[in-house]
Amino acid sequence: MHKFDRDQVSKFKSLLTNQNKILITTHYNPDGDALGSSFALCRYLKNKGYQVSVLVPNEYPGFLAWMPGNKDVIVYSKNSETADILIDEADLIFCLDYNAIQRVNLFTEKLEKSSAIKVLVDHHLQPEPQFDFVFSVINTSSTSELIYDLINAMGDKHLIDKEIANCLYVGIMTDTGSFSFACNHPHTYEVVAELVRIGVDTEQVHRLVYDTYSEHRMRLLGYCLSEKLQVMHNFSSAYIWLTKEDMKRFNVQSGDTEGIVNYALSIKGISFAAFFTEKRDRIRISFRSKGDFSVNTFAREHFNGGGHRNAAGGDSFMNMQETLKTFEMLLPNYLDDLKKASLHGDIF
Ligand code: 5GP
Ligand code: MN
Repeated sequence: MHKFDRDQVSKFKSLLTNQNKILITTHYNPDGDALGSSFALCRYLKNKGYQVSVLVPNEYPGFLAWMPGNKDVIVYSKNSETADILIDEADLIFCLDYNAIQRVNLFTEKLEKSSAIKVLVDHHLQPEPQFDFVFSVINTSSTSELIYDLINAMGDKHLIDKEIANCLYVGIMTDTGSFSFACNHPHTYEVVAELVRIGVDTEQVHRLVYDTYSEHRMRLLGYCLSEKLQVMHNFSSAYIWLTKEDMKRFNVQSGDTEGIVNYALSIKGISFAAFFTEKRDRIRISFRSKGDFSVNTFAREHFNGGGHRNAAGGDSFMNMQETLKTFEMLLPNYLDDLKKASLHGDIF
């Protein structure tokens, strides 16, 4: 199976031969796929003899901090001077798991100004035209799957070792919610089968990522579900919201709120879920949906965001109450689509 144009791959291959310093970047609040694809690509390129670094905008949760490559990562929010030098000196910059430069948030301007060749590898809808080389495939589980495909297309499958395989597996597993969405493609399982053959222990990886809740994170989840969940069956929608006080009370650390939105979506008959968290200067929102209801469109049209059809994010610059009111007032406009999407999965 060839996801990429052969000409493009061979152009890319000769382009790569002439590079000295390579920088791999990924999006703000890096998730399992952002980190998995970055660490895997970094190790592959290092094994090929390149000088490579991984730069992430900000810190990420502990349940992702065990992957090979984690020790060497540069975090912009902690070490911006080193990061700025790396950006200045890079000949080629990979942009992994994001479709617009502003998604790196803290070093957007720096990246925009860089004269390095920018190579996008991504699976988000509507990539922006700021990249020199684009490997964008929407109908794929994850950027990690695309990195596997790219290494394969380069004729280097034999260079995928156990460490690289583990990183790629984390990306595929987390971006499909443990194989529950965005994964109805035989190819995803063919890649996974190959990764298992190379030595991934899928049960161990699952434990390392998902069975690491701290006590306060578990209690936060309980609080969200019992006290902060609003279900609107009329609109097949549900949301959860957390204020700054809530987060202080449960000592919320980065990554602790990851995945909470999915609980709202797992209620029968609910096709649209949102999760609102109060930040210093805005309300951050995660959207999830079932079926054909596009949260990418919803987030783009109303909340300065975007993402995928069934998983997207956005921001509101109103206060929490106004944001929730605005959200609720928008729902009637989508009633038919929400109802239709709520039937998703009921008919076999
Ligand atoms: P999450 O809710 O997990 O933060 O994000 C869900 C998906 O939407 C992820 O794939 C993420 O990359 C994408 N996403 C989140 N926030 C934004 C945003 O503000 N803009 C865009 N374009 N995509 C986003
Ligand atoms: Mn991804």
